[in-house]
Amino acid sequence: MREKIINFNAGPASLPTPVLDRVQRELLDYQNLGMSLMEMSHRGEVFAGILESAEERLRRLTGIGDDHAILFLAGGASHQFALTPLNFYRPDRPINLVHTGYWTLRAAQEIEKVGKLKIIASGEPQGFRELPFLMSEMIDAESSYLYYCSNNTIYGTQWSHFAQRKPVPCIVDMSSDFLSRSMSFDDFDLIFACAQKNVSIAGMTIVVIRKDFAKTASKEIPKIFRYQSHIDAHGLFHTPPTFSIYIADLVFEWLESLGGLSAIEAINQTKSKLLYDYLDSSDFYDAVAAAESRSKMNVLLRIQGGDESLERRFLDEAERANLVGLKGHRQTGGIRVSLYNAIPVEAVSRLIEFMKYFAQKS
Ligand code: PMP
Repeated sequence: MREKIINFNAGPASLPTPVLDRVQRELLDYQNLGMSLMEMSHRGEVFAGILESAEERLRRLTGIGDDHAILFLAGGASHQFALTPLNFYRPDRPINLVHTGYWTLRAAQEIEKVGKLKIIASGEPQGFRELPFLMSEMIDAESSYLYYCSNNTIYGTQWSHFAQRKPVPCIVDMSSDFLSRSMSFDDFDLIFACAQKNVSIAGMTIVVIRKDFAKTASKEIPKIFRYQSHIDAHGLFHTPPTFSIYIADLVFEWLESLGGLSAIEAINQTKSKLLYDYLDSSDFYDAVAAAESRSKMNVLLRIQGGDESLERRFLDEAERANLVGLKGHRQTGGIRVSLYNAIPVEAVSRLIEFMKYFAQKS
């Protein structure tokens, strides 16, 4: 096997090594039962235990209480772009959206298929390098709900604080920073996060939804699309992504062993500070996002103001040095370093050593 590489991919992303080791040990014969978990019924006792454990651990980690349901749904975050307006758009009450780049545009496009949209703030004039100014007075009290994305994976911007409880329900795409920091979920009516970044493998999305809010959803849409169907069936409305839920349970266990979300937040703070401090001290590399909007999960950078041939060389050489997944999204170009939970501090130090070496010889 090739020497272990450091994987800075934006998603599917690195998983904690202890989790992968455990999966490997248990893959063929789950807990001495003579078969793989992948082959077991989602209605059997073994999987029921895993589902219960995953939900309990997630509640312990996050403090999410009984007012909210936790769903482990099949599909990606993109499904939620469509499902949220299908469930919660109310005629003639435009959904208020804060536009911070590609991922909120994708959500906006789905909203427009269902009903009226109003963009109440946009980072477009600043090329999405900066989060737009937002205060609760800008939200229409008559809107169906407020929608935004907590961390824009592509532009490397992240809201560092959340507005107070809004006059209308609040739905947030937390795909790329869910479980990366300690926070309260009380003020959100629905949040969703695809699993392939900080939670598990691709193919699953976690939805945390206020139970009272779920009851307000349209009853005119197919049952499979209604959050209430999944709540009523305790996550077994249909066959859920069993293997992905199993891995999520192991990732939650790993987070607990580290000391929970405040511990991982401190580690994430250390990693991003190391990298941004280096970028700020360098004449060769530039951080893309404006200082107050910088993401601790996805760090975007350019070389010498966007010298594409140098950037290509950087990526090639980094890969040969076993540092992979650093290519920026096709929308932005440049270099993107994703610092999700499974990336250790030492990996960032190794990357910075390589960056110094590359800058010096170029
Ligand atoms: N929202 C955000 C913030 C994302 O980063 C992504 C994927 N990278 C998505 C939505 C879409 O997720 P999926 O590919 O699982 O549909």
